[in-house]
Amino acid sequence: MPITAVVEKNAYEAAMENFDLAADALELDHNVRNMIKSPERVLTVHLPVRMDNGKIHTFQGHRVQHSTARGPAKGGIRYHPHVTLDEVKALATWMTWKCAVVNIPFGGGKGGVTCNPKEMSQVELEHLTRRYASAILPLIGPAQDIPAPDVYTNSQVMAWIMDTYSMTKGYPIPGVVTGKPIALGGSLGRNEATGRGVFNTLQSACEHLHIPMKGARVVVQGFGNAGSIAAQLLHANEACVIAASDSKGCVYNPKGLDIPALIAYKEKTGGVIKFPGSEPITPEQLLAMPCEILVPAALENAVQAENAEALHTKIVAEAANGPLTPEADRILEAKGVFIIPDILCNAGGVTVSYFEWVQDEQHLFWEAQDVYNRLERVMKTSFNDVLKIHLTHKVGMRTAANMLGIGRVAEATVLRGLYP
Ligand code: NAD
Repeated sequence: MPITAVVEKNAYEAAMENFDLAADALELDHNVRNMIKSPERVLTVHLPVRMDNGKIHTFQGHRVQHSTARGPAKGGIRYHPHVTLDEVKALATWMTWKCAVVNIPFGGGKGGVTCNPKEMSQVELEHLTRRYASAILPLIGPAQDIPAPDVYTNSQVMAWIMDTYSMTKGYPIPGVVTGKPIALGGSLGRNEATGRGVFNTLQSACEHLHIPMKGARVVVQGFGNAGSIAAQLLHANEACVIAASDSKGCVYNPKGLDIPALIAYKEKTGGVIKFPGSEPITPEQLLAMPCEILVPAALENAVQAENAEALHTKIVAEAANGPLTPEADRILEAKGVFIIPDILCNAGGVTVSYFEWVQDEQHLFWEAQDVYNRLERVMKTSFNDVLKIHLTHKVGMRTAANMLGIGRVAEATVLRGLYP
């Protein structure tokens, strides 16, 4: 059963459409526009891996560096059966604007391998990861391009990439990836950084809109790393998380789900379905559930023209990348829904990745509270920067965030003298 109604939108086309809207609003010179719009480098690799049954399966993967105008490329690696080059290009493009929105000295990159990690053993995953790391080796490095986890990759995958890269140099180079285990130079607070950043932007949005967080009804689509941690922090701050879902199904309790218990239940059973005290609902019902805050935290295109009208929320906090198509954006804006766009909302992950990289480069590690305080400062400052553009230019929050990010990348590009 497909868990969302329609998924066949091209994320890269959406990224380009949103770019044009913001570039028009900025009245960006067309030469600069062309220079910063397309990816700088695109690499496609084929990865033969011996599977546990002795057969060799050849996987396809990609690494895209969209921009290095403001610093090394930065972006996660996704393992998913639906990974395509266009999806990776879209995700790399969003990373460029995202790093610029939170003003960290990175450009944008992304990687992906078309595979189904849920059907692979740990040994197969390790072989695939090491093969992929070797194949993209010419592109990556602490000063060039720094991968991190994304959907269905984790700190163990980062550890294998760090080791594969370090083997070619003869000494450990932790700064080549972020989202590593703490024992290998990871940062405290990285695992929960995306969810925490989503929470920080929601605090700012609730304050701006005069919506009390206490008692606010919250719906979370995608109860994974980003979604579950945002839910946990919202729950701890007395919001009422009434519905949550993952790839297997959705659960609902109008009185509020016990989020710490749901996290423990998902860890134990591998999913949210049949959580005691909840009732099952369909993915369509979940998205249409009346609430104050909807957190799409799964994949792209969750909300499209076909289902946007059905939403009954005041705020959409985009924990996922690209969960709204441009058509859905227009429909929700017309309905007066306040959108915290992905490149702002989920930027907590890359912000703490930046902190991790700084700590690795300095060999000096920070306490968790130090990470949280710095993260909150970055998220709330960035929220206010975007809000100011939204209010002064009378554009939607997405266009405002894109204007901030694209404007900063354009400025860096011109200053570097790449402009003829
Ligand atoms: P994850 O693998 O931990 O979680 C994804 C969750 O979504 C899983 O629980 C999965 O079952 C669920 N899911 C998948 N398809 C679904 C569907 N159709 N309907 C409902 N649920 C579905 O991944 P994550 O790291 O939490 O990433 C989620 C989103 O957040 C992605 O868009 C990712 O790009 C974005 N993001 C993550 C980070 C990060 O640091 N983890 C940072 C920025 C953005």
